[in-house]
Amino acid sequence: MSPSTSSLQPGCPANPPRPGEGVRIGVLTSGGDAQGMNAAVRAVVRTGLHLGAEVYGVMEGLQGAVDGGDRIRRLEWNDVGNILHRGGTVIGTARSKDFREREGRLLAAKNLIDRGIDRLVVIGGDGSLTGTDMFRQEWTSLVEELVQRGELPVEVAAEHPHLVIAGLVGSIDNDLVGTDMTIGADSALHRIIEALDAISSTAASHQRSFVIEVMGRHCGYLPLMAAIAGGCDYVLFPERPPAPGWEDAMCEQLRAGRLAGRRDSLVLVAEGAIDQVGKPITAAYVTEVLKERLGEDARLTILGHVQRGGRPSAYDRWMSTVLGYGAVMEVLSADPARPPRVLGVRNNRITAIDLGEAVKRTKEVEGMIDRGDYESAMMSRGGSFREMVKIFDTMARPPVLDSASELRSEGGARQPRVAIMHAGGLAPGMNTAVRAAVRLGVDQGWTMLAVDGGFHGLVNGRIRELAWSDVDGWASDGGAELGTRREIPSSQQLFSVGRNLEEHQVDALLLIGGYDAYEGALRLVQERERYDAFALPIVCVPASIDNNLPGSEVSIGADTALNFAVWALDGVKQSASAARRCFVAETMGHRCGYLTLMAGIASGAERVYLPEDGITVADLQRDVERMRASFRAGKRLFLAIRNEDASRLYTSDFVARLFEQEGGDLFDVRTAILGHLQQGGMPSAFDRLLATRLLKHAVDCLSDQFERGATDGRYIGVVGDAVVSDLLVHMPEHVDQKNRRPLHQWWLELKPVVVAVAEPDASPDESTVQVLTVEQAEKLTEVNGSIVSV
Ligand code: ADP
Repeated sequence: MSPSTSSLQPGCPANPPRPGEGVRIGVLTSGGDAQGMNAAVRAVVRTGLHLGAEVYGVMEGLQGAVDGGDRIRRLEWNDVGNILHRGGTVIGTARSKDFREREGRLLAAKNLIDRGIDRLVVIGGDGSLTGTDMFRQEWTSLVEELVQRGELPVEVAAEHPHLVIAGLVGSIDNDLVGTDMTIGADSALHRIIEALDAISSTAASHQRSFVIEVMGRHCGYLPLMAAIAGGCDYVLFPERPPAPGWEDAMCEQLRAGRLAGRRDSLVLVAEGAIDQVGKPITAAYVTEVLKERLGEDARLTILGHVQRGGRPSAYDRWMSTVLGYGAVMEVLSADPARPPRVLGVRNNRITAIDLGEAVKRTKEVEGMIDRGDYESAMMSRGGSFREMVKIFDTMARPPVLDSASELRSEGGARQPRVAIMHAGGLAPGMNTAVRAAVRLGVDQGWTMLAVDGGFHGLVNGRIRELAWSDVDGWASDGGAELGTRREIPSSQQLFSVGRNLEEHQVDALLLIGGYDAYEGALRLVQERERYDAFALPIVCVPASIDNNLPGSEVSIGADTALNFAVWALDGVKQSASAARRCFVAETMGHRCGYLTLMAGIASGAERVYLPEDGITVADLQRDVERMRASFRAGKRLFLAIRNEDASRLYTSDFVARLFEQEGGDLFDVRTAILGHLQQGGMPSAFDRLLATRLLKHAVDCLSDQFERGATDGRYIGVVGDAVVSDLLVHMPEHVDQKNRRPLHQWWLELKPVVVAVAEPDASPDESTVQVLTVEQAEKLTEVNGSIVSV
């Protein structure tokens, strides 16, 4: 990155005063690097400029503040262009010894005040947050000392009585207590899953055992989630040291897995894994154990720094962008008397938490593990972490052979037969969901059935049994082995559906799919008076790249689609680097703009066209003016992303032609239809975890209904961090039926972020993204009307 003066200056004189005018903000990354830090830095710089502030990059972390000179540089709009897709941090990071000393912090205070900086956004781990908070607390005394030493004029000191800080947590370990996700954790999970998928394919070919060491010194997030998403057999992580004799238990479990049909065995070991007396368990030791006790040619892979590297995932780009935006809002509005806050993600929203409290609680968990108080450590990790531990245990536990049939014949009581099917468009993660359903259902003693080819298959009786081992390896498979179609049964076909449900003695239906699945299921529920066979428990699980389903903020497949869209857009952007070019890229999503808006934020688009807003001639005219101005000012690329149904008549082709005509010699225009690659590919870690968690709740919901003799038709989903459900008959109240999307779409609140980071000269949006308090974030499920917790 070059120190710079940019050609594109923000701040149009004709505009009303902006909230950041006269303010100077410093931004730094510190401690261990994490993918997504660049997205946060970019958002801090651009949002700051957009709001009229000056922004300074403090290079090489807190050491840069101590060193001063050109390590504190004014950053302009274009200085943070083309960095969103890069791993690491372009402004550098370091661990600073000097900053730990008061003398170092004195120098840092002087260097910042010399440049008029008294607001800092710090992006780092708990060490960096602690250090910066200490600096803030000392600020007044540091300034007094500088005045006493004659190094700072009194009147200058008086202008900077306080240091205002906002923290963002950059840590691949996801170890800060109080936030759901830290910057970099999702990308690290991507790297681990890529490695696991690769290892799994070779391991399965040779029927081998692999031991893989992953990061996680004090926090089991990465190893646990990777073990679930990667379909592993055994995992060791710090919060849950195994009981004495675990070596035998592990070998027994792996042996049983092979007997049940697994072709490979994968064991994940966190680098901080310990046993119950606190003795480290190394991956090398686990490998030796497998060799000795199983007589296996076990192989060891240590993933190491690969986990920190590579491109940030779509989530780490959009979420870090939103957090960077929020951090600027925070330092511009923070009351210096209020304790400083960290902005993090809680229930999918930007939430401000008390910095001191978050650091303290994080340190406490480390202390609990050191003291051997593992129960408290697990409690501190939160409900969904503990839930995932249980899910892993169930999913990885091979069935005791023939237990299902034994149970079925026990006392003559027939165990339930549950049919799984898809409907709607293809969504990556459908196979992962079926695998979870089968394994969790078999664990209940149920017989699991597959309906091939969606409702069409149900009409034609294409129903077969699925065994535990049939779904081995499905955790990572893209596509849908059971097949999916967009049609729902017609009135004439309902009779066949009923007959087939009866003939195959189906006791419950588990539908994993999109809007058509929900509509089809609702139809069955509504026809119960005419067809007795439809009076059975039905549970719909949201799987759609469009993310347009009621009762769930996210659906299985949407994160994968977003990652593929962002990957394709990276390529599109690079291809344009040699020319002055506008790209009109088209994303899928039908009448829901989720994919478009999120891809826009994650790929740094200048403009997004959403079906929720439509497209007007006035919009296009304004966009042409913007493009002309920006290309004249030296810009080389303008990326506009249009949802496929943003407008019926102003198609991508039309929009591109219009821009081409109006652009004249100033720039050329190309279209890029991203197309079906958004539906393909291996499911992302997030989608695999979401699929597994949702299916756990779907199975619980069925189990509860079997117990009560209920026959509810329900749909389940995730709101915030909670899994919730509602009756299918309530669906019409929650959707815009014409446009086939929910009436309330949470992500639309993020629209102002696109303007803040893409339009230097636009007036700051009247609507801003709200930073929630923890209490507000916790209330999210309550505000969602009739939806109740499962
Ligand atoms: P992380 O931020 O990833 O947890 P570290 O713990 O290494 O990484 O902290 C990064 C930097 O933050 C340290 O090198 C130091 O400059 C600063 N820092 C950490 N703790 C303190 C402290 N207690 N006092 C002053 N500075 C600190």
